[in-house]
Amino acid sequence: MRGALLFAGCKPEVAAGPDGRIIGIGGRARAAAGRGAEVVRLRGTTWPGLIDAHIHLEGLAERHLTLDMTGARSLDDALGRVKKWVAGLQKHSWVVGSGWYNDAWTDTAFPSRQDLDKAAGNRPAYLGRKDGHSAWVSSAAMKQAGIDRSTDDPPGGVIDRDERGEPTGILRETAMHLVAAIVPRATDTDLDAAMARSLAALARLGLTSVHSMDTARGFGSFQRLHARGKLPLRITYNLPLADLHHAERIGVRSGWGDEWLRIWGVKAFLDGSLGSRTAEMLDGSGTVRLPQQELVDMIDRCARAELNVCLHAIGDGAVRRALDALAPHGRAWRYWRPRIEHAQCVDPKDMRRFARVGAIASMQPIHAVADRDLAEEYWPKVSAHAYAWGALERAGARLAFGSDAPVETADPLLGIDAATAWRRRAKWHADLAVSRALALRSYTSSAAYAVGMERDLGALREGMLCDLTVVDDGSVVATVVGGRVSWMRKPSAASPRSAAGAR
Ligand SMILES: [Zn+2]
Repeated sequence: MRGALLFAGCKPEVAAGPDGRIIGIGGRARAAAGRGAEVVRLRGTTWPGLIDAHIHLEGLAERHLTLDMTGARSLDDALGRVKKWVAGLQKHSWVVGSGWYNDAWTDTAFPSRQDLDKAAGNRPAYLGRKDGHSAWVSSAAMKQAGIDRSTDDPPGGVIDRDERGEPTGILRETAMHLVAAIVPRATDTDLDAAMARSLAALARLGLTSVHSMDTARGFGSFQRLHARGKLPLRITYNLPLADLHHAERIGVRSGWGDEWLRIWGVKAFLDGSLGSRTAEMLDGSGTVRLPQQELVDMIDRCARAELNVCLHAIGDGAVRRALDALAPHGRAWRYWRPRIEHAQCVDPKDMRRFARVGAIASMQPIHAVADRDLAEEYWPKVSAHAYAWGALERAGARLAFGSDAPVETADPLLGIDAATAWRRRAKWHADLAVSRALALRSYTSSAAYAVGMERDLGALREGMLCDLTVVDDGSVVATVVGGRVSWMRKPSAASPRSAAGAR
């Protein structure tokens, strides 16, 4: 059995016991660790380990398996990447990718299947938009999925059509599933390798825990990696609404699992996204993905099953519906911690209701940086209370911060900057920024609370799990999970950019 570990040279110093919990901090760390302790020399400030409260790990892993179109600057650039990618493919293989973002292109019009057919060499192609709320598909993909002009829009989704009524190749919200369902999947082995790479990259960013919004396929991968002792950080898994009946049948409750991998909530989409023009607004615009009665039923079922809820709501209309549906539940059970995911636009009348109904505002500050121009364009009347972390805090809401990666970067230091100093620099509703202390709490103790782990994670205290993020001169130098170094900058590397080592 291994002995105690001392993280020395950082402030405060911390000692971890063999069970991975903190046994001493600051002036007490050295004595608590004892003479025989293994010493890890560090420099910088010791924070409680950073937690990302909203991330899509399958989406991150996919980037290693499929065509990554992140950063394409125009339709031509996007099509160029498709052409290059298909050069290595067989004649009839699927072209699968994601990350295109027409709002950043020179011409922001949505692309068409005809554009894609040529570039993809008439192969079936499925390319997810950066926000995951629309897909761009080729004619061959539509044909294989049986979509034509006579196909009705599915509930909660839209098949874009041209003036002649022909599908254009853009599928929004649930309409994406019509094609996604037939896209060939990577093998478990390939998925696990890609997942391990993504998790290692998150550890390098200083993350010690994440709250994943994924499907059973991702959960399977986490379990296989966990069984091999390969998780560099803790994962709390939130299952999709489609799987709720399975969870009810087997009787799994929030918190099932262990400190490394556990189940918490059920994720449901009430609306779409700002970028895909599907956010459900109080002015009547947008897409209702989950009608109110179904939402009420879902929350009832989750409360009865002692499962928590993660309600995706971006527009002020969807946020209001979420609060309405949560209101009757009060303290449904001991660890009832309902969360509203994103809450990008909240009507001022609804801000105090978060605290009243006990809803946690699970927000991603980095979205504001990326979405600012769009928000000004599409939400000109409401941008004064969009991405309104400061206003929600003042209204008494508990905030948990995350990234929504791969939609945005998972870097928590950039998230902290977005939540604090960026508003003033950008001169965009500076009153909506939060203090550094609150931003840090939202990435640590409040995020831990949001998944019922506040007694184990989120603070530097004796008895808590020893998860640390050590930061020096504005960059992460070490990530410690359960008293183990999961990533550390190589001592020789002076610049953070050259830090590529793994444990
Ligand atoms: Zn998300």
